Amino acid sequence: MTPWMCYRPEAAMAVTLRRPQRCRTRHPNEDSAKTMHYEGPIYRPPSEADSLLIQATVGCPWNRCTFCMVYKNGPRYRERPAAEICRDIDEARKTLGSGVRTLFFPAGNTIAMATDPLAEICTHARQVFPRLERITVYGSSQYIRKKGIEDLKRLADAGLNRIHVGLESGDDRVLRRIRKGADAACHIQAGRWVIEAGMELSLYVVLGIGGRERTSPHARNTAAVLNAIQPHFIRLRTFVPKVHTPLLADVQAGRFEMLGPHGVLRETLALVDRLETPGLLASDHYTNYINLEGRLPDDRERLLAKIRAALKRDPSTFRHLFIGNQ
Ligand code: SF4
Repeated sequence: MTPWMCYRPEAAMAVTLRRPQRCRTRHPNEDSAKTMHYEGPIYRPPSEADSLLIQATVGCPWNRCTFCMVYKNGPRYRERPAAEICRDIDEARKTLGSGVRTLFFPAGNTIAMATDPLAEICTHARQVFPRLERITVYGSSQYIRKKGIEDLKRLADAGLNRIHVGLESGDDRVLRRIRKGADAACHIQAGRWVIEAGMELSLYVVLGIGGRERTSPHARNTAAVLNAIQPHFIRLRTFVPKVHTPLLADVQAGRFEMLGPHGVLRETLALVDRLETPGLLASDHYTNYINLEGRLPDDRERLLAKIRAALKRDPSTFRHLFIGNQ
């Protein structure tokens, strides 16, 4: 990942290379990884660091978000046949034994997979690994909504019990601009359905994704959407422009003005201050300026005090701005 970037777009390319730690995809057993089938970038949330990764889909069927570089150079989206995925599950069982507790099915939007084969691989995984506590996928709100509540319930019955969703923002103008493919109403309906189906919902918010222009509505409307959904987890990330993305081009052309550390912190304060939903708030990511973790609503005042204290720090004491390359 990448070059340091100055806040000023015109100076964006006058940068010094800085490489944050790479977030390496780990397999619980490297020998097993050699015999499994993986194609394209394999991403997983930090909270799935210890999970077995069995690839169910390749790429992302949406692949249009302006801030995301993951699959911009391919591969094209496809679903692996259920029989092939089940063979990988069996292979992992041979190497790891029956003790696997958590399983994550990459790639970028596995909830888009047809319900029958997705349910089939969840059922198979539960049979092969009887101690499984969690099966998780990534899923965008538009694909969750397309799936519908009945299919979500079928998947929950088959053992899928957590979905990580990129909310990014609750502000419709920001969502349109970043081409998320979902507006606030879609996010709310999809999020409520996931919870109603009996699954855990982990929502990701990108601080600074509205730039200077939309920072206030981004904070305000994101808090409103989170309050409406009441997810189990709210996970904060801070916008980092990535190579090969339209949003980086906007930053460099001066069409998008990024927030500096204090701008992001003020936005975080405005967001957290409005949260009335219970759940775990975490900023478990290298992009963030400070680490926030607490259970809402009990820890809200402590979290707000931490943000206010960080706002007293000199901006030069925070991590540098940089362009991401992964
Ligand atoms: S952010 Fe997610 S939904 Fe958007 S293009 Fe990237 S992988 Fe696909």
